[in-house]
Amino acid sequence: MKQIQENKILYEVSGKNCNEVSREAPKSFLPFHKPWIGEEEKKELLDTLESGWLTKGPKTKAFEKQFAEFIGVPYAIATNSCTSALHLALVGIGIKPGDEIITTPITFAATVNVIEQCGAKPVFVDVEEDTLNINPELIEGVVSPKTKAIIPVHFAGQMCRMDQIRDIAQKYNMQIIEDAAHATEAVYLGKPPGHWSKMAAFSFYPTKNITTGEGGMLVTNDCNLAERLEILSVHGLSKDAWKRYGKDGSPHWEVLEAGFKYHMSDLQASLGIHQLKKIDLFWKKRKDLVDVYNKELEHLEGINPLKIYSYGKHAHHLYVVRIDSKTLGITRDEFICCLQKKGIGAGIHFSAIHTHPYYKEKYKVPLGTFPVAEKAGDEVLSLPLYPLMSLEDATFVVKATKKILRGKYF
Ligand SMILES: *Cc1c(COP(=O)(O)O)cnc(C)c1O
Repeated sequence: MKQIQENKILYEVSGKNCNEVSREAPKSFLPFHKPWIGEEEKKELLDTLESGWLTKGPKTKAFEKQFAEFIGVPYAIATNSCTSALHLALVGIGIKPGDEIITTPITFAATVNVIEQCGAKPVFVDVEEDTLNINPELIEGVVSPKTKAIIPVHFAGQMCRMDQIRDIAQKYNMQIIEDAAHATEAVYLGKPPGHWSKMAAFSFYPTKNITTGEGGMLVTNDCNLAERLEILSVHGLSKDAWKRYGKDGSPHWEVLEAGFKYHMSDLQASLGIHQLKKIDLFWKKRKDLVDVYNKELEHLEGINPLKIYSYGKHAHHLYVVRIDSKTLGITRDEFICCLQKKGIGAGIHFSAIHTHPYYKEKYKVPLGTFPVAEKAGDEVLSLPLYPLMSLEDATFVVKATKKILRGKYF
């Protein structure tokens, strides 16, 4: 069994090239994700188009208010992505070149890229074996006088051990910014993201729990910070400058800071307003699919779902399993190829960030430094999980998975 890497990646399973074996496409394909956009969203979008106000305006304001209420925080600033929300958060707490920010290697590129964009240094801490969340036990070991903040990532929708992380942050006077891209509905010990930290950033990318096409949200309890973040998200222009062409606006504005073009538009908010109304329905549908997956896959050898703890609410953004290639005789990448041949899309969340070329070359972290994350990065695979899937779709995935486990690769 070997993996051949050429210009494009080809996989070989049992000596057969995956791309040659079953040439005919599967009769139907269950994609890794498909967003649920209802009639309400379409009507709202049309209404916005006809209103003549397309950028940040009344709908974005309404969505911010609705989201703040959902999370239970006083302030929410809508952004054009979670990435820009994270960057804004770091600028908001004054991160400068030379500062160090603690985070996890099991995350999307954005979490770490925004640290680089501030000229700061990402300092990684290995993850817990069973949840792939940052391991609180290891955080104190990397704190230095330069450490300014920590960005925990609530991986797959299960929140990190925020009580422990908060205690450590207080002890060393560090700020916490939660990357809650997966965790809009999550709760830990009774409290959602945004209640454990200075700020929490959410994502409305198409594959996330709710979507605005592209979009994000930054929440905080801090009134002065919220005002500054909103200003920074609109070029650093004086308060409410985004109203300057509206009937209540003033055409005058002043540049208060060299800000960013990070705000949301009313086109995006038109989707968000209705997506948020359906968030509990979406969650319930994903939970039912997770129950099918857990029941059928938990006890199988060679494929290990992540552990779900009962200390809060899991947002069930991703259903991640780890492929034990020693037991199964095929690698994770080969497993994905087999799923594709059976008409099922899959994802990889995430291969450890410090093993990617940019970070590998810049920080020269030797392999073996974060053994749990590095191993997980080679083993993780995300099965389809979204509310447009039926329970039959989940059963279809389970059957295909079991066939692969029995060596029926194609
Ligand atoms: C998706 C994602 C982001 C970035 O979200 P965008 O809205 O696409 O910018 C950040 N962090 C994590 C963990 C993510 O999965």
